[in-house]
Amino acid sequence: MAKINSNYQKLQAGYLFPEIGRRVRAFAAANPEAKIIRLGIGDVVLPLPEPIVQAIKDASDEMGARESFRGYGPEQGYDFLLSAIADHYKSQGAAVEADEVFVSDGSKCDTANIQEIFGLDNVIAVTDPVYPVYVDTNVMAGRTGEAKDGRYGKLVYLPTTAENGFEPALPTVKADIVYLCSPNNPTGALMSRASLEKWVKYAKENEAILLYDAAYEAFIQEPGQVHSIFEIPGAREVAIEFRSLSKTAGFTGVRCAYTVVPKDLKARNDQGELVGVHGLWLRRQTTKFNGVSYPIQKAAEAVFSPAGKKAVADNIAYYMENARIIREGLAAAGLTVYGGVNAPYIWLKTPAGLGSWDLFDKLLNEAHVVGTPGAGFGTCGEGYFRLSAFGIRENVVEAVARITKIL
Ligand SMILES: *Cc1c(COP(=O)(O)O)cnc(C)c1O
Repeated sequence: MAKINSNYQKLQAGYLFPEIGRRVRAFAAANPEAKIIRLGIGDVVLPLPEPIVQAIKDASDEMGARESFRGYGPEQGYDFLLSAIADHYKSQGAAVEADEVFVSDGSKCDTANIQEIFGLDNVIAVTDPVYPVYVDTNVMAGRTGEAKDGRYGKLVYLPTTAENGFEPALPTVKADIVYLCSPNNPTGALMSRASLEKWVKYAKENEAILLYDAAYEAFIQEPGQVHSIFEIPGAREVAIEFRSLSKTAGFTGVRCAYTVVPKDLKARNDQGELVGVHGLWLRRQTTKFNGVSYPIQKAAEAVFSPAGKKAVADNIAYYMENARIIREGLAAAGLTVYGGVNAPYIWLKTPAGLGSWDLFDKLLNEAHVVGTPGAGFGTCGEGYFRLSAFGIRENVVEAVARITKIL
C-alpha cells in the first residue's frame, strides 16, 4: 500500500481564506441585496498598465512568426530581464549581479520551495503573525512537530505586536533560518535600517540565513528607508531576497517574480564544510522548473522601462492613497491603526476587546465589509484585523464610512 507524507496531516485544517469565503458566501446567500465590499484577500484590482500589455502583445507576435519563435528559454530567466532586474537593484544601492537573479512564476512558490535546499534539522524561526506559506511548507517538509494551540512544535516564533513596535526581537534560542517580511504582510510594518543591521549581525554570528520577503518593497513611500536587504553591509553573506511583480505591477494573474541568491552566501554540509547556496538553488531550479514564458518575461522587462516604471508608480500611488484614506478615516473615528504608510495593509486593533473573528463577523453583518481576522496569521494576530488597500477608490471610501458608523 502506498503511503502518504504524514507531515501533511499535521497541517491545521480550515485555512484562513477558505473559511472567510465560506462565511461571506453564507452571508451573501442570506442577504442577496447587500452590497458587499471586499478588502480581505490581498489581490490587486487595477488593470495592467499599457506599456506592459503592449510588451505581451509584441512578444506574442514574435512567438507567432517562424523567424522569432522561441521554445524553452534559460531556466534562470532571459538575460534581458536578469540585467534589467540587476540594474534596478543597483539603482537602489544594492549590489546584485544578473547571474544571482532567478526569475520565477511567483514568490509564493519561491518562498515555499527555498526550504528544500536546506537540511531537515535546521531550526526555523518565523514571525507571529506570519505569511502562512513559510510555516506550512516547513510543516510539509517535516521540520516541525505537531500543532498545539495554533503553534507547531520545534518552530521558533518571534512575536511582532504593538508592544514591540512590530519589530521582531532576536530569538533567545539559536535559529538557523529566519523568515522576515518587510514591508510586512499582514501588519503593514516596515523594518528599520537599524533592525535589519541587527539581524544581519545575528545571522553572521550564528551562521544563520535570512530569507527576506520584499514582495511589497515598491510600496515604501518614506524616503531613506531600506528597499533591499542587500543595502545592508554584509547581507550578501547571509541573505536571500524574494521579490514579486504581483502587487508591484498588477501581475497576480500574470505571474512573474524573482529571487536573489548571492554568490557570497554559504552554508555547511554534513561534513561541516562550507558550500555555496547559489549552486544548490540553480540545481534545484534547473531540475524542477523550466522557466517563465517569453511574453511574460517581456512584460516583466517592460515594468523596468521608463514608461513602465511611471505607470507602475501611478498604480501604487493610487493604492497608497486608499491606504491613507483607510488609516486616517479609522484613526479619526478613534480606532487604533498601524501600517498603511509603507505597505498596502492597515492593521487595526480590534476595539472593545473584540476577538478578531468577532470583528470579522460584525463588519460583515453590520457594514457588509470583508476584512481578514488577524488570528488567521498566528496567535499574536488575535486582537488585530487586516484591511487591504487594494480596492476601487469609491468602495474604499464607502467601506470606511460604513465601518466608522458602526465601530
Ligand atoms: C502576495 C505575496 C507574495 C507574492 O506572491 P506571488 O506568488 O508572487 O503572487 C509573496 N509574499 C507575500 C508576503 C505576499 O503577500
